[in-house]
Amino acid sequence: MAPEAPVTSAPEDGPTDVDLAIVGAGPTGLYGAYYAGFRGLSTALVDALPEPGGQVASMYPEKLLYDIAAHPALTGRELVDNLVRQAAPFEPRYLLGETATTLVADGPRWILGTDRGARVRARARRGAPRRGQGPPPRRAPPPRAGGPPAPEPSSSPPGWARSPRAG
Ligand SMILES: Cc1cc2nc3c(=O)[nH]c(=O)nc-3n(C[C@H](O)[C@H](O)[C@H](O)COP(=O)(O)OP(=O)(O)OC[C@H]3O[C@@H](n4cnc5c(N)ncnc54)[C@H](O)[C@@H]3O)c2cc1C
Repeated sequence: MAPEAPVTSAPEDGPTDVDLAIVGAGPTGLYGAYYAGFRGLSTALVDALPEPGGQVASMYPEKLLYDIAAHPALTGRELVDNLVRQAAPFEPRYLLGETATTLVADGPRWILGTDRGARVRARARRGAPRRGQGPPPRRAPPPRAGGPPAPEPSSSPPGWARSPRAG
């Protein structure tokens, strides 16, 4: 396990309360925890594996990576350690060895449950729209003559969880 990872188990008397629950402590989740923290959100990282790092930590920690920005070469282990260290100032909660199995609404929040009985309550202003409640899909604008291709419309569903603290 990365030495900096403050592994925390969920309290037994109630859910872990955070702004954002992240399933997966691979590179994506770890960077997500950093960025969410940077934006003022508290986070919990839930991962079925016993250590953070996803595929990198579990499958190729010793491999040299050459395609990481600003790093001519570093090992998978170093990459994971850096990601954990980068997120650490924002004190993400780590629930490792826990597989996320359920997600249920709890008023304006969501409760994520794991196979070992841990629960994470994530603050959310609004969930993803239920079927039939979202706006009609947006169409891509017509291509501009001679110019670069027009960007695709965003596929992000409206109303994804936002914290009041996000501003
Ligand atoms: C052998 C190999 C070599 C590679 N080499 C390179 C390389 O040189 N350069 C490069 O850029 N990429 C490389 N990749 C690809 C790179 O590893 C992936 O793109 C990267 O790991 C994706 O990160 P991620 O966080 O999105 O997903 P993952 O690393 O897959 O992490 C996802 C995490 O989510 C957890 N998870 C999923 N579902 C649940 C659930 N329900 N509950 C709890 N936890 C859950 C998993 O346990 C896992 O830890 C390589 C991949 C392999 C297999």
